[in-house]
Amino acid sequence: MDGAPTRTHRLSDMVMRITASMTIRMEERAKALAAQGVRVVAFAAGEPDFDTPEPVKEAAIAAIRQGFTKYTASSGIRELREAIAAKLKRDQGLEYAWNEIVVSNGGKQALYNAVAAVCGPEEEVIIPSPCWVTFPEQVKVVGGTPVLVPARAPDFVPDPADVAAKITPLTRAIVMNSPNNPTGAVYTKEALSGIADLALRHNLYIIVDEIYQSMTYDGTRHYSIPALRPDARELCLLVNSMSKAFAMTGWRVGSVAGPREVIEGIDRLQGHVTGNPNSIAQKAAVFALTENVDCTPMVREYDRRRKHIVGELNKIPGFKCAMPKGAFYAFPDITALLGKKAPDRTVIKDSMALAEYFINEAHVVMVPGDAFFGPGHLRLSYATSMAEIDEGLARIRKAVEKLA
Ligand code: GLU
Repeated sequence: MDGAPTRTHRLSDMVMRITASMTIRMEERAKALAAQGVRVVAFAAGEPDFDTPEPVKEAAIAAIRQGFTKYTASSGIRELREAIAAKLKRDQGLEYAWNEIVVSNGGKQALYNAVAAVCGPEEEVIIPSPCWVTFPEQVKVVGGTPVLVPARAPDFVPDPADVAAKITPLTRAIVMNSPNNPTGAVYTKEALSGIADLALRHNLYIIVDEIYQSMTYDGTRHYSIPALRPDARELCLLVNSMSKAFAMTGWRVGSVAGPREVIEGIDRLQGHVTGNPNSIAQKAAVFALTENVDCTPMVREYDRRRKHIVGELNKIPGFKCAMPKGAFYAFPDITALLGKKAPDRTVIKDSMALAEYFINEAHVVMVPGDAFFGPGHLRLSYATSMAEIDEGLARIRKAVEKLA
């Protein structure tokens, strides 16, 4: 039974200000249709289709059997924070002490903590766009103002000069998400270094979201700002997560590494908001990070799909898709389809309307670029099987043919 409203409620201004997560909403649309027996193809949420590696699951089961089922330190067990520090040293050459790291309920909470720790009401956070749906909303939750800086197509790498033009006395932080969701852009050394210069000059934090770090292609190198620019390390709040790299989305383990004072602030905050992340998931994460669980086959498979989906999208009339260098999203330009009419005569006025059209006409679910402040685009997650990709693309092609 679904809940039915019985009275009118007055919600807080903050909750009324924020919008629902479109990535989650689209995934729920796909699941709801599937539950009705519709054969849906979902390119919606960015979630690995691979299962969590078996030994990681075994580590979690062992933790349960050993009774590791109680509260832990609110910022996570020392063993996991040390494992994250060792990973940062191994993969990025970065030195962080275990108590310069907080473990949270997924990258999402880690990012929220970072924003909440440094941005207050009326203050501003600069976010290059297109951007992940959640960044601007998290800034709004803390009463701040998200300031978007469009990064230019087709490479979508932000220009530090454009960012500089948006800095005001109220600016507190700049978000740098590379490899990027939704564009798949991998930021260049020059762009990242330019942002580090700005942060140093204006004393701004850089919220560095590296959750797609392990997914770069064609030999493209991912640069981590604190490693590239050690002089800016004190200003970096480095966020990572187990979700994408180890196919552990449901386990909810993410982290932020940064200067001790900020980390202590985050510890105070988390101690009141959620307390510790799941104890069992923490043990599983320790195992994944310390036992060298090899996830490179997943990345190789994403690469194969990336080339295939981009090649095929470009064969569909009205779709123009640049080859992304990282993450697992294709972000085609569909402006050529805007203004066209669906068979029922409704006009496809924006990416939202086009995404809606594909859901209704083809039962293919994608996330509209508008949700990412990237109008005229759609986002397709190719973290799904090759067979699903082909089925989805065939349906999209057919539905496009019906537009006039
Ligand atoms: N981050 C993924 C996405 O962009 C998962 C859904 C979400 O939390 O936004 O699709």
